[in-house]
Amino acid sequence: MSVPEEYQYQHISLSGQKIPLPAGKVVCVGRNYLMHIKELKNEVPDVPLLFIKPSTSLIYLSKNIDIPQGQGECHNELELAVLIAKPLKGASQNEVADAIWGYGLALDLTLRDVQAQLKKQGHPWERAKGFDGSCPVSPFVEKSAIDNHDNLNFELKVNGQQRQYGNSGDMIFSINALLSEISQIFTLLPGDIVLTGTPQGVAALHQNDILDISFQHFFQLSTKVN
Ligand code: ZN
Repeated sequence: MSVPEEYQYQHISLSGQKIPLPAGKVVCVGRNYLMHIKELKNEVPDVPLLFIKPSTSLIYLSKNIDIPQGQGECHNELELAVLIAKPLKGASQNEVADAIWGYGLALDLTLRDVQAQLKKQGHPWERAKGFDGSCPVSPFVEKSAIDNHDNLNFELKVNGQQRQYGNSGDMIFSINALLSEISQIFTLLPGDIVLTGTPQGVAALHQNDILDISFQHFFQLSTKVN
């Protein structure tokens, strides 16, 4: 049986080439920016809060976004995404750099009302965060083009207004700390991506919203909510 076309996502480079790595799991980090923790009135974690989106959540960020209907608000969470090129298991912070292919952006689309209900019940978040198409992903910039991954800027405008602005230097747990910690629990394999948490500015998306997403000088791309 072949995989249906809508699930044939493949990572792509800035020049539009397919990156020869399989689309794997998506390991996500919650509560990694202080201002976002405050906006949702959550506690600052002692260790990274981790969850996983399945590979069926992956779609191209350049495609229009479908948000699930009848399940309350669906929020934008624009995050820096790290693409893994080599296996990482039980790695120290000094060992992770060699395993990184590059960096892009992803939306961790979140059904916020569903998530609030799940949190209240003490249930896992996958129904709110792991649905089909819940992880639109940009092209990836090769790491050789990036001097310092702890000083990367990214921005989301919705209908021309800035909604989110992030700098990776503001993370509570740095990229190296996250990859090391994650690799103690889930072995990271080539083609996996890590979403490093959202900065502040999460809010509901609506039909026909235009999203402009930019990553330093590397790219600016636009998409629309269907
Ligand atoms: Zn998130």
